[in-house]
Amino acid sequence: MSKVAIVTGGTRGIGLAISQGLIADGYKVAAAYRSDEESAQKFRDLGGYAIQIDVSDFTSCQDGVTKIEEALGPVNVLVNNAGITRDGVLHKMEEDAWHAVIATNLTSCFSMSRAVVGGMRERGFGRIINISSINGEKGQFGQTNYAAAKAGILGFTKALALETATKGITVNAICPGYIETDMTSNIKPEILESIVKLIPAGRMGKPEEIASLVGFLASDKASFITGATLDANGGQYMA
Ligand code: NDP
Repeated sequence: MSKVAIVTGGTRGIGLAISQGLIADGYKVAAAYRSDEESAQKFRDLGGYAIQIDVSDFTSCQDGVTKIEEALGPVNVLVNNAGITRDGVLHKMEEDAWHAVIATNLTSCFSMSRAVVGGMRERGFGRIINISSINGEKGQFGQTNYAAAKAGILGFTKALALETATKGITVNAICPGYIETDMTSNIKPEILESIVKLIPAGRMGKPEEIASLVGFLASDKASFITGATLDANGGQYMA
């Protein structure tokens, strides 16, 4: 029987590549999205299961996971990938931009994990993979909200890994560097150019280059890796 995986933000960008990678590996994938019906429909047209869940809302996460389990079966793998940016320097940042980024990027990891971890504990198997960011490790100008959320994910990952290590569950975080998606296409070209100059590989990453790492962490081959932070950034350390 094939395993079930949830990928939040799974119908676009990095999440779509993760969903497609897991489907290719034989998983039944539930791709959760917020509002982009067009991407969700495209995913369904290719035979995928897409479900509207607002990951910033605890009840929506609980209800969404219940529906997924009714449709596909118990969840074995959770990829907390959904994320947003609301950039701005702190002295001008609106309160809403702070709360929205923390709720979508960080509190979502609590709400989604809370909904699946009990079942994983009972069944003695689980994989939780949290998508953080290089900017959670090193900070970024104009991103106090995003960097705080992404750094928070790293602490969350390590603490939950300790709580689940004897239960066959691994919890890990991935810190991508700059990856070609809608999120980075919003960055001004001249700023993007200066960012690419700092990447030793000389280019941005592709969503598939994050998806392959998720596929490995989800597999039995990664059973002794837990509480880890894995970088995939073309060599861009702390520059
Ligand atoms: P995109 O902006 O391309 O896609 C974001 C996805 O998250 C969309 O599917 C969106 O849903 C979903 N989403 C946003 N808010 C919610 C919500 N409240 N509930 C449910 N789903 C939501 O982002 P990327 O693919 O670039 O990024 C994916 C992850 O990787 C994010 O966590 C991001 O922070 C992280 N990351 C990205 C990097 C990059 O360079 N691109 C670098 C480092 C980390 P919908 O389609 O409905 O809008």
